[in-house]
Amino acid sequence: MKILIVDDSTVVRTVVKQALVMAGYTDLAEAVDGLDALKVAKTPGTKIGLYVLDVNMPQMDGITLVGEIRKFDSQAPIIMLTTETDKAKMTKAKELGATGWIVKPFDAEKFIGVVKLFVKK
Ligand SMILES: [Mg+2]
Repeated sequence: MKILIVDDSTVVRTVVKQALVMAGYTDLAEAVDGLDALKVAKTPGTKIGLYVLDVNMPQMDGITLVGEIRKFDSQAPIIMLTTETDKAKMTKAKELGATGWIVKPFDAEKFIGVVKLFVKK
């Protein structure tokens, strides 16, 4: 199952990717913002099994992206990985269909623990 990592920070995408690869997840895709993520997710033949989304991104933020993903994919879990601790934003993301919320700084062990709940290798 493909995991799509969406973050405007190259460093964060790299760190997340490394954690996933080290845990044995190799079917990975990346996007730099919400619009880019939709392009990747809607590519014919692509089936995303798990979304990992940043909140604050240019062009389309992670909260809006949750709503856009849910228009065509009601199943795949969506994990928000963010420095954002704003309760209103968390609530909004949940309402739109986000599955979980992990606060940065990135803790690889904690993150992989959550991924394991959702994705079989
Ligand atoms: Mg960001």
